[in-house]
Amino acid sequence: MTSPFDLTGRRALVTGSSRGIGLAIARSLLEAGAHVVVHGRSSAGVESTAAGLADEYGSAAVSVAAFDVTDEQSVIEGVATTEAEGPLDILVNNAGVQHREPMLHVSVEDWDRVIRTDLTSAFLVGRTVARGMIARGAGAIVNICSVQTDLARPTIGAYTAAKGGLRNLTKAMTAEWAGSGVRANGVAPGYIRTELTQALVDDPTFNAWVLGRTPVGRWGEPEDVGGAVVWLASDASRFVTGQVVFVDGGMTAVV
Ligand code: NDP
Repeated sequence: MTSPFDLTGRRALVTGSSRGIGLAIARSLLEAGAHVVVHGRSSAGVESTAAGLADEYGSAAVSVAAFDVTDEQSVIEGVATTEAEGPLDILVNNAGVQHREPMLHVSVEDWDRVIRTDLTSAFLVGRTVARGMIARGAGAIVNICSVQTDLARPTIGAYTAAKGGLRNLTKAMTAEWAGSGVRANGVAPGYIRTELTQALVDDPTFNAWVLGRTPVGRWGEPEDVGGAVVWLASDASRFVTGQVVFVDGGMTAVV
């Protein structure tokens, strides 16, 4: 009997999978049997990551796409090029940026850049891919949220607003697309060691705060996030939509 978690024969686009959490999600999806489209802005970064994955999982399991998720025309063209190679069954909206500065000083340009990259991108890529999924009557979208989907911290106001918005965008996608066979869910990682958080890992005060504030007592690793994404991308979660699963070592469960 085939496992309901099996993704053999499914094609997945993971935005921002040239490194960090997106790359770990790509690996988890490949291990579950999916074909993965590795994505980022930098063609060089995408090509070199895809070459490494092709060595491990075979060249037929991996392809590439490079486009800016904040630019509507680039998204439309990038998704069309990707879908010309085969329809997408799974979309993981993972690309994101951070900006740390007290809100009293944040420029409108920096605010807009974060909102556009972390929230508007999921709307743009989501609806572009959903058009094909709706026509085929099936698809799974996973939006990568954050503990800042629920909780705020000083100096990351735009990120907190974007990640909170992503939860409700996930619900809006469910409201409009669930009846057409397209599920949308979120995965909200806690503090994970990646390039985005390296400065925090290197800051002894912040590092001690994360270790003390996370009930399991450690930073998350990118590999910790993939299991929840595989579940939400697969038939094992076929009656789950509009939800956000926190993968945070217990951080949001305990004060
Ligand atoms: P990284 O900075 O390590 O990687 C970001 C990825 O996104 C890269 O592949 C980058 O590729 C791509 N990217 C960024 N901007 C764009 C853009 N405009 N268009 C296309 N691709 C883009 O980030 P993480 O792995 O740490 O984070 C990934 C996601 O996980 C983000 O949404 C983040 O908010 C979320 N998250 C991270 C946590 C953490 O602790 N690290 C915790 C909770 C959530 P390129 O540079 O080539 O554009």
